[in-house]
Amino acid sequence: MCGIVGFIGKKRQAAPIILDGLSKLEYRGYDSAGMAVFDGDSINVVKAAGRLDLLVSLTHGGETTKGLAGIGHTRWATHGQPTDINAHPHLNGKGTIAVVHNGIIENYMALRKMLVGRGYEFKSETDTEVIPQLLDLYYKGDPLEAIQKVLHRVEGSYSLGIIFADHPNELYAARKSSPLICAKTEEGAFIASDVPALLKYTRKVYYIGEEEIVRLSADDIAFFDVDALPVEKEEVEIKWDAEAAEKGGYEFFMIKEIYEEPRTVRDTISPRIRDGKVVIEELGLSDEEIAEVSRIHIVACGSAYHAGVTGKYVFEGMARIGVDVDIASEFRYRKPIIGEKDLVIVISQSGETADTLEALRVSHQCGATVLAIVNVVGSSIAREADKVMYTWAGPEISVATTKAYSAQLVSLYLLAIKFALCRKQITEEQAAGYINDLKKLPEQIELLLGGKERLQRFANRYIAATDVFFIGRGIDYAISLEGSLKLKEISYVHSEAYAAGELKHGTISLIEEGTLVVAVATQKELYAKTVSNIVEVKARGAFVLAVTNVGNTDIETNADYVIYIPETNSYFANSLAIIPLQLFGYYVSLGKGFDVDHPRNLAKSVTVE
Ligand code: GLU
Repeated sequence: MCGIVGFIGKKRQAAPIILDGLSKLEYRGYDSAGMAVFDGDSINVVKAAGRLDLLVSLTHGGETTKGLAGIGHTRWATHGQPTDINAHPHLNGKGTIAVVHNGIIENYMALRKMLVGRGYEFKSETDTEVIPQLLDLYYKGDPLEAIQKVLHRVEGSYSLGIIFADHPNELYAARKSSPLICAKTEEGAFIASDVPALLKYTRKVYYIGEEEIVRLSADDIAFFDVDALPVEKEEVEIKWDAEAAEKGGYEFFMIKEIYEEPRTVRDTISPRIRDGKVVIEELGLSDEEIAEVSRIHIVACGSAYHAGVTGKYVFEGMARIGVDVDIASEFRYRKPIIGEKDLVIVISQSGETADTLEALRVSHQCGATVLAIVNVVGSSIAREADKVMYTWAGPEISVATTKAYSAQLVSLYLLAIKFALCRKQITEEQAAGYINDLKKLPEQIELLLGGKERLQRFANRYIAATDVFFIGRGIDYAISLEGSLKLKEISYVHSEAYAAGELKHGTISLIEEGTLVVAVATQKELYAKTVSNIVEVKARGAFVLAVTNVGNTDIETNADYVIYIPETNSYFANSLAIIPLQLFGYYVSLGKGFDVDHPRNLAKSVTVE
């Protein structure tokens, strides 16, 4: 999820280049840093939790870590706290193989068990450490063969940098579903997880393909597929400047992060589906304990609260368990009534949201068990909660959340399926159907992203809008809440979300000729009702943008502009319908020339109440 830099040189020392490259990736945020350099004799490792500066001073700018070949890493923890021991690189027991890794090894538990059974000892809590140990198991003198075997065993996402002590003139790399590039210059060869790390040295890079392995030496780079067959590759010239390179060529982090949503959703779901079943190990509750939970309280702020509102509908509908959703700043002061068998779920991207943290403490004072859905490993909320379910969205830089929100949604779906099964509200077959729908979400999100130009054109027409209303019923109301927030927080357009049926109890008086109303109508059983509300606002002169399921073409009779989302279960529609609404907010802000990633008056992590 964070940064990798590797270098193998003819004469130039590797460590200073690695440190410099890692410093160019600092903007992403990370929790620890480390590097492994081969000094001609053995592999030396320096690593430390905290900022890169620490590593720089520990090694005197890399000077004390001599050697021509090395790999470095900045970690954004997914498995195990941000500590010195969990920092990368990780080694095999003999210290002859060093590995840096970005991503998640989904089957690491099973691999770790197998390796422990064979006498391997583990030092860290990371998923990554299985890789050097597996390499050790398969290594018989040929690194390529060992890497190939490892790639056949690991599931999940990875970009890897690897050095072998007995192949001092080589550096290896491999990747799947996590970015990694390499390049060669007069001075040596490089690997890096992102372009900015290399711009100082070259603009000509190779993009490493899915499940490809790379062997680098000081004057050559060779590519292989997962079966170790050679692959031909062309250099690509990078034309971006340093600032654009940080954003992967996108104009803002927000749009880059919207494009990361398919991966985020996949990363959060797929490690928790094993043999066709939802397995949430970190929940630490037996099926019986889950069945006995009498009520759920979801507490959060901002977009995380909106994810919670969706969660209420999904839990109540699917698992038939009562759910209260609260805004954390209200919950903490309103003397909540929480029963002994209730479960409190707090949701926060940063894990540092002050009100949510305080709500967690209030829940503890009431004797409740607290489950946190959090993106940042080792954050305050993660540390204080009884159980933590991590969303694996990776670092989110844009202040307006997109991918972390999407990861929170799918985490709630996974929990709801688990609760529904344990409470015998759905059959195994129904659960299998839901899981099937969940698995399709990443590709369906990709499909929606493909329609972004249409959204941009529409947004450009509505740049001058001063008031926008988002309406929907049930889960569509929850989607409206988040769609409205996305628009207002970055484009400064006044917008409101209303439960569609509530409109005529007052707010409809605000609708006049040309007012933009975004109507979300994905919920099959509520569709006709929402269409009636569309007709009502149309009769008062509104211009209606409708978001509905593919096939509902009859809506075109009443709506002025329609966006169709692919077919999914009604419970999961939020994950799809929110994509065009995020894009809409983004393009309005972009069209107005605002700094999309840094909206006025807002901070990424709200650590004050
Ligand atoms: N999953 C690995 C860990 O937690 C890699 C994290 C990263 O990509 O930085 O150590």
